[in-house]
Amino acid sequence: MTHCVVYFFGDPEAVSRLVGKRDALTASWVVRIVPSTNGNGPHRLTPQKIAEVVTKTSAGNYALGRVQENGFCVLYVGRSDDDVAKPLRSWAREHTRYKAFVFSYAPHPRAAFDKECEDFHDLGGTETLDNAEHPKPPANADWLCPRCDLYG
Ligand SMILES: [Zn+2]
Repeated sequence: MTHCVVYFFGDPEAVSRLVGKRDALTASWVVRIVPSTNGNGPHRLTPQKIAEVVTKTSAGNYALGRVQENGFCVLYVGRSDDDVAKPLRSWAREHTRYKAFVFSYAPHPRAAFDKECEDFHDLGGTETLDNAEHPKPPANADWLCPRCDLYG
């Protein structure tokens, strides 16, 4: 049984009662409702699609996973401090099991780090994600995780 997390992109009202429960079809935990109208995905993880939708060179966050019945199952979360398209392109080149992505821009690198930490914890940490370890701040920063004692 998979133990992943679903971003529903159906009608937020209709699915909001599912948060905190298991999705009956996929047995995935539903932790968040994300309207699909914001343009942030899910998108197919291909170089062409990345070039098409990630048009700003900006710090940002992304999640990799797969699209299922009516949601997006997150398997990996990441960030970039300067260009969120860059790690997405390298993931796409590696032809991994990740077939889709969502992303968002961040106003500055610190915001990207905070969001990556929040996502990492919200989505189950290393227990359920493929992430091998807790998100790390850039080498020259002494930022603290907003959610736990790591880097505190
Ligand atoms: Zn933490």
